[in-house]
Amino acid sequence: MAEAGGDSPGATPGTLHVVATPIGNLGDISARAAATLRQAALILAEDTRRTGVLLRALGIATPLRAFHEHNERRETAAVIARLRGGADLALVADAGTPLISDPGGFLLRRLHEERLPVSVAPGPCALTAALSVSGLAVSGAAGPGFVFNGFLPPRAAARLRALRELRGERRALVFYEAPRRVAAFLAAAIEVFGGRREALLCRELTKKFEQIRQATLAELADWLAADDDRRRGEFVIVIAGAPKAAPDEAELARVLALLPRSLSLREAARLAAEITGGGKNDAYRLALDMRGE
Ligand code: SAM
Repeated sequence: MAEAGGDSPGATPGTLHVVATPIGNLGDISARAAATLRQAALILAEDTRRTGVLLRALGIATPLRAFHEHNERRETAAVIARLRGGADLALVADAGTPLISDPGGFLLRRLHEERLPVSVAPGPCALTAALSVSGLAVSGAAGPGFVFNGFLPPRAAARLRALRELRGERRALVFYEAPRRVAAFLAAAIEVFGGRREALLCRELTKKFEQIRQATLAELADWLAADDDRRRGEFVIVIAGAPKAAPDEAELARVLALLPRSLSLREAARLAAEITGGGKNDAYRLALDMRGE
């Protein structure tokens, strides 16, 4: 890292370090994140008072500057000038990983446009913390993965519209939600996905009153309603993706009719199921009926 405060024209540009901080438990700060914050010339923080508490706990004296959604565009030019002057800077959010439902997107896009160096000290994030305990969103060969939706619009009609757009989504859905809206969110999710859809409610992850509960949406709504304390704090909700839609029988029948009769029943059913994405047993039963066997 360049020397703290060392801005000099024509110098090698400094680096913007995007640094993840804890989402509740101070012990989750990584050694590298702390060292990066200590060595930076300046820390850009969403809320300087909140980050100040973290820095004091870590014994870090790096100066702070407010950088949030209301001044991001204005501050970006100054940040670029300081990086061009050779200073290494750090960007943090109030908690967790910057840019995950947090400011910084405009700044990072500008830095990439300007080909200025960026680096990351990754770490805590409510999204990945919830996914890692969910079991509902497995990516890669084992499952269709997940879609991160952040916060939905706070107004009921807009929230319902946003959820309806996700109705057929096969991947698991991850949402952030504020405590005063979490019950309304679950009610809307039940309206759109049905009460029997599996989900995971994560409350106050990594904190003293952490709760992680896996159940159907209807059961989670009841659980939340049973105790006012359960609606306090910070929430991540993971909702299982839509079950694979069974192809309608007409589609299976159409494909079976096109397959040569020389194929055995078993082979025809296997192919029809493969082509339509339907179940082998359904296809076999239908093939039996169609051939009158
Ligand atoms: N950048 C952060 C991250 O890496 O997760 C998220 C910032 S976003 C403004 C804040 C939201 O994240 C909260 O309203 C909540 O939905 C979720 N969140 C943050 N910390 C959490 C925690 N400890 N437990 C559950 N959810 C949390």
